[in-house]
Amino acid sequence: MDLRTGLVGGNPGKGRTTDLVIAGGGPAALSASLYAARYSIDHVVLESYQPGGQAALTAWIENYPGMGRISGGDLAARMKEQAERWGGSFETATVTSTGLRDDLIEVKADSAVYLARFLIIATGAAPAKLGVPGEDRFYGRGVSYCATCDAPFFKGAHVMVVGGGDSAVKEGLHLSEFADRLTLVHRRDRFRAEPYLAEKLLSCDNCSVRWNTTVSAIEGEDGVEGVLLETPEGEERIDVDGVFIYVGRRPATEAFSGLVELNPDGTVKTRGIVGTSRSNVFAAGDVTDNELRQVVTAAADGARAASAVFNLMQ
Ligand SMILES: Cc1cc2nc3c(=O)[nH]c(=O)nc-3n(C[C@H](O)[C@H](O)[C@H](O)COP(=O)(O)OP(=O)(O)OC[C@H]3O[C@@H](n4cnc5c(N)ncnc54)[C@H](O)[C@@H]3O)c2cc1C
Repeated sequence: MDLRTGLVGGNPGKGRTTDLVIAGGGPAALSASLYAARYSIDHVVLESYQPGGQAALTAWIENYPGMGRISGGDLAARMKEQAERWGGSFETATVTSTGLRDDLIEVKADSAVYLARFLIIATGAAPAKLGVPGEDRFYGRGVSYCATCDAPFFKGAHVMVVGGGDSAVKEGLHLSEFADRLTLVHRRDRFRAEPYLAEKLLSCDNCSVRWNTTVSAIEGEDGVEGVLLETPEGEERIDVDGVFIYVGRRPATEAFSGLVELNPDGTVKTRGIVGTSRSNVFAAGDVTDNELRQVVTAAADGARAASAVFNLMQ
């Protein structure tokens, strides 16, 4: 490391030593950056793609206090703009591994190496897969995990949504505004989604629900043409043009597995909401084992984590 410039790892112009690295760029990280900036903590946010995370991929959010109904993309953009206004610093980089170098945390990204006194893990979660034949083959050709991104391609089509939680029902409602017909397949006999959303879907004119039913295969030639279902009455094939999958999330913690203790499901094992097994590493948002996974809880975690860093720096 060049102590004068702070550059590390032989990456001139890339990578640096800093007080805090925030890994991820979703609501948890954006909130952590806002709070860190206001505490004057030198920090960098490392985000793989674009800030906003899962929140940026939903058409509308209507349970973030004070915002009424707002598109996920707009909410994410506002959060980023607010953090930047206070001095938040963002780089496009994927964190690939983490470890220790002397007293510092070494954060290796695809394009640079960073050294930090503190780390906030806010890498959130990615969609879980159904794990059925055809899912990978038709990804991008009828199989999707993002209704907001892909709904316009299914105007006038018959689409299937798989899942029964908030995301499945909410994104199903969004899809029903484009598709001619929407069939939601759920393995249980009732939704886990908020009653308000569930009632909306159940009263939607072009929506129907298949209860106690699972998908066993997605079929087609060049794109999705149909789905094989396991129903209480036996196997059934129905024709659909698209399949949107909302069956849970996979925490993005591979890069931190040697640094902090993880739970068997891959989430970061937390102590006192945002603490981890290492005193200078915190975790915030969907990447943690905290129960409610929403924008408001991710933002709260981010604030708590930045505040914990600030307290340790005093
Ligand atoms: C379809 C859908 C609809 C939803 N609707 C609502 C809603 O209406 N209201 C609500 O409150 N919540 C909603 N949620 C949940 C909400 O979006 C999440 O709880 C929230 O985004 C979690 O924020 P996060 O910052 O913890 O993680 P994420 O939003 O998952 O952000 C994590 C970020 O980290 C980045 N990342 C991952 N790995 C790395 C790495 N190795 N290096 C660098 N960057 C990395 C990712 O690219 C991502 O941008 C919805 C979620 C989905 C999927």
